[in-house]
Amino acid sequence: MGKRITREMREQRAREANFDPDKSKLSGERVLRGLEPCVERGYNDMWEIWEEYCETSQNCDIFDEQTKKHFIIFLAKITKGMQSLKDPRPKPSSIWQRWKRFTANWARKKGEQLPHDVTNSGTMFIRQELHKHVPLNLKPHERHYLTEIHFKNLLQQLWWNDWYLFPYPIYRVYLSATLKLCMYSSGRVGEYVESTARLGSGRGLHVPQDLTILVICNRKNQPEVIIRPTRDAKGMSEKKNKHPQHPMAEDIESLPLYLNPVLEPLAICLARGLFRDFKTADEIFALEPPPGEYYELVLGTPSIPLYGSQLPGEYFPGTPFFEVMSDKGPTGRILNASWLDDGLAKLGRRGGYDNRISFHDIRAEALVRADENGYSKDELMKFAGHGDPRMFFESYMPATSSVGGVENILGLARRRDISMHFRGLSLRRHPRLWQALPAKVRQELEDSPECAKLNDQIGELTARIQAASTDDMRQKLQDQRQNLYKQKHQLLAIKLDTWQLRLPKERKPGTTEHEDNTPLYHWTWFERVAHLMPERKRLSRLLPLSVPLRSPEGRQALEDMIAICRQKNPVSDHPNLKPVNGCCPAHGCSMEVESLPAKKRWKHIYRCLKRSLQKQHGFASLCFICCSWFMQEAEFAQHCQYHLDRPETIPIQYGYLEVRGMIASPGYCPQRLGDASKSATERLKAFLDPQSLKKDMDKYYEVLEDDKPMECGSLHCDVLFNSVLELQYHYQDVHCIPVPRKRSNVKPGEKSGAAGSPQDGDNTSSGLEFHITTAGSFKRKRTETSDSEIIDLPVKRHNYGSACRGPSNKLFSPNQTSSDGSRDRTREDSSSGSCDNDDNKNNSLGVTEAGGLASVSLSHIDPRLFEPGTW
Ligand SMILES: [Zn+2]
Ligand SMILES: [Zn+2]
Ligand SMILES: [Zn+2]
Repeated sequence: MGKRITREMREQRAREANFDPDKSKLSGERVLRGLEPCVERGYNDMWEIWEEYCETSQNCDIFDEQTKKHFIIFLAKITKGMQSLKDPRPKPSSIWQRWKRFTANWARKKGEQLPHDVTNSGTMFIRQELHKHVPLNLKPHERHYLTEIHFKNLLQQLWWNDWYLFPYPIYRVYLSATLKLCMYSSGRVGEYVESTARLGSGRGLHVPQDLTILVICNRKNQPEVIIRPTRDAKGMSEKKNKHPQHPMAEDIESLPLYLNPVLEPLAICLARGLFRDFKTADEIFALEPPPGEYYELVLGTPSIPLYGSQLPGEYFPGTPFFEVMSDKGPTGRILNASWLDDGLAKLGRRGGYDNRISFHDIRAEALVRADENGYSKDELMKFAGHGDPRMFFESYMPATSSVGGVENILGLARRRDISMHFRGLSLRRHPRLWQALPAKVRQELEDSPECAKLNDQIGELTARIQAASTDDMRQKLQDQRQNLYKQKHQLLAIKLDTWQLRLPKERKPGTTEHEDNTPLYHWTWFERVAHLMPERKRLSRLLPLSVPLRSPEGRQALEDMIAICRQKNPVSDHPNLKPVNGCCPAHGCSMEVESLPAKKRWKHIYRCLKRSLQKQHGFASLCFICCSWFMQEAEFAQHCQYHLDRPETIPIQYGYLEVRGMIASPGYCPQRLGDASKSATERLKAFLDPQSLKKDMDKYYEVLEDDKPMECGSLHCDVLFNSVLELQYHYQDVHCIPVPRKRSNVKPGEKSGAAGSPQDGDNTSSGLEFHITTAGSFKRKRTETSDSEIIDLPVKRHNYGSACRGPSNKLFSPNQTSSDGSRDRTREDSSSGSCDNDDNKNNSLGVTEAGGLASVSLSHIDPRLFEPGTW
């Protein structure tokens, strides 16, 4: 026992430590529990509403039942549903949340809690009576589970054939990494990136402190990389030492590369130079710790600047692992949960899912699987980051029992392959979901009174903008017009949503992807542009392989992913039109073209190279289908004839396509292709911009008359159409050639007589009777060539694969900038494109941790849908 301390000693210690006997300097206020910024905002908002209510109703006696009910009704009236576009009615739960916030804040403000009967009567009023006064959305919340099959579908969508271009290529790797991290660790959306509830805190996964990487000598006596991320778990701000950590191993046996948890984290670390001692994957894979030993790979600050520069971190020690990028490089800021949530929801829609997928669906599945796999309650709690053992049962346990009732009674072996199918059922998918409206529906929407009115107003504003005398005035008018575009976008988005949501439900089981009558523009896009994205093209081939990460294929995949992380622009130059050392490759021209915009760059090189080759050889022509130059006229003519004789070697999408200014495919005129009176080179003439293709098409349109049946004219189809407009719809849907903007052939209200076409917008919900020309509705011209002959041709890239299976139908917007281009970048940055996003933010206070449920985002729609001049 220590020495007894006397009173004198205590006084001396207090004196020595400068204890101030004067207490008047201290605040007299009670100390309240500190709040997370988001909670505090919610409390303050509610208090403001209460004070406003008191002012207007001149009564603030919350103990009075009438006042209380009246206040709750007021609250419900001013609250909008999460998906306010589709359903403006709020859910009772969100009103109840606000009520709880109000009562909790009452206790803080007034120093004493409201009596239980007061708060409870409010709760009961919301549950039982409120819907009689205010329209409420009474549909119960359904928990979705992102089962293994859905998880794989999403990753495949991201890496196999995705047409979406992220503003920065590294974001694709980020999304892939977070999907896996969350699935393998049951992470919440705001734990690896900054949570919405902790906005501005900069919290999330940081290196070096939250990521540990080891190379161990594993049970097979082989070296193996293990990563261990730390989750900044929700509700554990005060218990940092208890944050769950999840080791994930490189060895996933015979499963394919794309499921490997180590792939993306390793790629990100190497791309950014985060390893203190290693620069390449080969150096890491060469490490061989002795049996039973391990090496730690120390992480440090990034040593490789992306796109040239690295801005210093703003909030946190360490580097955010998922960092916001800018054109000038990493910004030091961490990506946030809305980015991730939105990214996943859009990916889900692109992957064909009707429901909005959220990260919580991933977490739910991870927890259920852990439970099914027989881990103990304590292990499960640690894995989940739960402090309360009841949480799992109450919030995550699926309705479908995992006890096999039949096996249980009949003494059969336990089946583990059944319940997950039922769990995954609520996420319905159509593997070829419409990604845009077909030309006809789109046109009918344009012609609808609602849209026509907006179009008129837009036209009027455009004229006024052109005539505006001052910049100020112009800006004002432009803002007004922007607003109208937004409204139009909403109309289109709702229409597309209707189309999209119906498909997964109506799909006949057993239908193969190719029998589906869904237009395939988006689904063939990647194939059409893959030659401009060599890394992604290779990855789409490598990632499905069932090989170890340290195999040659695995290393190549890692290299490609590192390259993607470091790219600023996802699009490389056309393989035939590449600058050499930044200069034009043409003989005699050494112009520096590297800094030119992509469009100017390839056009210069194409013209210059063609001219110089012509000078040299007397003739030069590029076959864009095969990506090869021909220097002899006769040989080229023969080559063109070869293509014409074998239509399956010509992609069925004839429309001009470029990505971020770089040409992916020139346009071909369908009428020319089928015109046997022309020479082969004339027929296969490549149009190098949409305008010249349109000019050529217009010549054919001029001679067509509506009362005579007309044919597509191309090599691929021999179907007849009754009107020019019908033909144009066909060109757009099947051949990716946009319907000309001028619509001289159709009077308002006149319907072109396709079977079952909806008479107006409202009709579409009655069933999928709409008719577009599809595989089943017209015969392809038969060709006599056998498949084996095709192989002789030096054709490396194009999608005659799909042309052989049946014509693909694309939905709108075949021209120019493909899926996003730079416009998307601005959209991502300003988030002005998605009207629903804002709504999302406004309402984020009204939801619990599942805040991501939010609304179905509309911004997956191509922005060109609502831009003038692209048609
Ligand atoms: Zn040149
Ligand atoms: Zn060719
Ligand atoms: Zn056709």
